[in-house]
Amino acid sequence: MMRKPIIAGNWKMHKTSSETVRFVHELLQGLGNERPACEVIVAPPFTSIRSAVKEAEGTFIRVSGQNLHWEDQGAFTGEISGGMLKDLGCSHVILGHSERRQYFGETDETVNRKIKAAMRNDLIPIFCLGETLEEREDGITFDVVTRQLMGGLADLSLSDPVRFVVAYEPVWAIGTGQTATPEQAQEVHAFVRRKLAELLPQGFSEHVRILYGGSVKPDNARSLMSCADIDGGLVGGAALKTADFLGIIKEAT
Ligand code: PEP
Repeated sequence: MMRKPIIAGNWKMHKTSSETVRFVHELLQGLGNERPACEVIVAPPFTSIRSAVKEAEGTFIRVSGQNLHWEDQGAFTGEISGGMLKDLGCSHVILGHSERRQYFGETDETVNRKIKAAMRNDLIPIFCLGETLEEREDGITFDVVTRQLMGGLADLSLSDPVRFVVAYEPVWAIGTGQTATPEQAQEVHAFVRRKLAELLPQGFSEHVRILYGGSVKPDNARSLMSCADIDGGLVGGAALKTADFLGIIKEAT
């Protein structure tokens, strides 16, 4: 099954507009005229999205938001809607990241509402899920992932698997330098794909890209991405330096 890999950089709360312009410029320079074998996405903070979109215009680099509100407009001070991201030129949006779940009270239900808002606004959701260290040690990883998948996908009608991305991010591997082994990651990725096959229309799950996230670096990217069900990476820390991000992109074939 051919699934084009995706390398997505989640910048979190890093990079001003000028730093963003420099990064995208250096990324394009680093890749030269060669179009990479994977899709490349950067997810700057809201305030730098416009700069990223402008600098990436006419190139293969796509720009993602890191969050959105589930309503399209209204009295929600400080929030940003899917339509606003679309209007800025975003193609994707990261939803349900563990930092949002941990620090901002996101639940499976709100993630579900946000996925619906993304799709309503023609944005491709990058739907994040994954277990904590405690949950892994308690042997409930598959239960947690099942709950997150069922909650996030509730009442969704998905028609195009290319416009839906899942990211498995074990919380214990995010920003810790402790990457899941390829075997650990593949085991959960295969499980997620089997669950998707149960939950989604026939033929859908084989086409959905499932990214791995959690301390991906240039030197571990290849072994992770060569696993059968790992279709790319959602990268945090190593997406902030052009050399590291380029290194990972070059490993994703
Ligand atoms: C992330 O924030 O999605 C992430 C995977 O971070 P890091 O690569 O730094 O672990």
